[in-house]
Amino acid sequence: VDPISRILETVHRELAGERGGALADYIPELAGADPDRFGLAVAGVHGTVYRAGDAGEFTIQSVSKPFVLGLALAELGLEAVLARVSAEPSGEPFNAVSLEPGTGRPANPMINAGALLTTSLVPGPGPAERFARILAALSAFAGRPLTVDEATYASEHATGDRNRALAHLMRAAGALTEPVDEVVDTYFRQCAVLVTVADLATMAATLANGGVNPRTGTRVVGERAAGHVLTVMATCGMYDYSGEWLLRVGLPAKSGVSGCVIAASPAQFGIGIFSPPVDERGTSVRAVLAARRLSEAFDLDLVRHPGLSAPVLRRREDTVPATVLDLQGELDFAAAESVLADLLALPAARPLVLDLTAVSRIRPVAAGLLTATLADLARAGVSTALVGSDTGVLTGGRWFPRRADALAWTTTTTNGGRT
Ligand code: GLU
Repeated sequence: VDPISRILETVHRELAGERGGALADYIPELAGADPDRFGLAVAGVHGTVYRAGDAGEFTIQSVSKPFVLGLALAELGLEAVLARVSAEPSGEPFNAVSLEPGTGRPANPMINAGALLTTSLVPGPGPAERFARILAALSAFAGRPLTVDEATYASEHATGDRNRALAHLMRAAGALTEPVDEVVDTYFRQCAVLVTVADLATMAATLANGGVNPRTGTRVVGERAAGHVLTVMATCGMYDYSGEWLLRVGLPAKSGVSGCVIAASPAQFGIGIFSPPVDERGTSVRAVLAARRLSEAFDLDLVRHPGLSAPVLRRREDTVPATVLDLQGELDFAAAESVLADLLALPAARPLVLDLTAVSRIRPVAAGLLTATLADLARAGVSTALVGSDTGVLTGGRWFPRRADALAWTTTTTNGGRT
């Protein structure tokens, strides 16, 4: 067994005895769940899924919301979606009447009102086509064809008057433009889609991976849409526990009243957890505890200071005829900013060799800052040789694959002259 699965197994073993919470019963079908079911999965952004405990299916419930939001964003764009659903944490329970006075615009797409509206935004033309698109999108996020649990769908359809009421209020205010019964029906079906913890981890990892499913390689939504979904999850995904969740776990997340939770760490992994007993907020008790332990074990709190990376300037040589700066690591804003100070202090009239062989990545912001600085230096009479492979992002100097050639070139440039 690999060490990641071992961590999952340890968390599973330590929390299996936790008895807090109760089964949600306002959807009668959920009250029949087995409270001892408990499963965890982590999906990396390279396509491997690690698991412990229960591997069976359960209904996705509100964890469908971020993915339907992703679909709406992909189809309509951020502005069109925001015009209809706000993105403010409501600080209220999942089923609250959190509507903007006058317009009826719901507070955010993670509470029921906002999710009903988001569902209505998915292009149809009719409800059957709309649900087909939603099911196809959820399946693409999971990387396998998903199905609907008809019993849970029927159970919520028979009892979901509060969601119907929310939809009627939004329709009366003009916020919801599609027929109430169609939208509510589609939403109940979307909540009754069956998934496993491995599916949820893969779905979350797809968001973490910029919208590309790491198992299938399929692009499900654009990078911007995936990022926007994670942002809304971070601020609103855990309802009236969102603030404390970010404090304790530090990852964008979403809970569902069947007892499932997803969390995602951008460019790192997705997590899926399932355990039916939920607290008074409708969030799985074991899942919250497990997510806290995993966030600690994987050391990936989103807002924690990442620690100082190695200095970007690896070595400097001021031998005749050139100043040679060796850079290393990833060039981001802070790295470029620290190099700017060295570049701006360079003596005029002496060529510069900027060796980027040990640089792993140049972010666009760093490329922009360095290109502008090299242009300034050229105007001041400093010609620059760049060493490494020219990927086209950094200009303002002459590229050489090998350092020896760059040094040779600097001897041919006249003092302060250009080539
Ligand atoms: N289908 C459930 C409802 O609309 C989802 C709630 C949840 O998972 O938080 O009440």
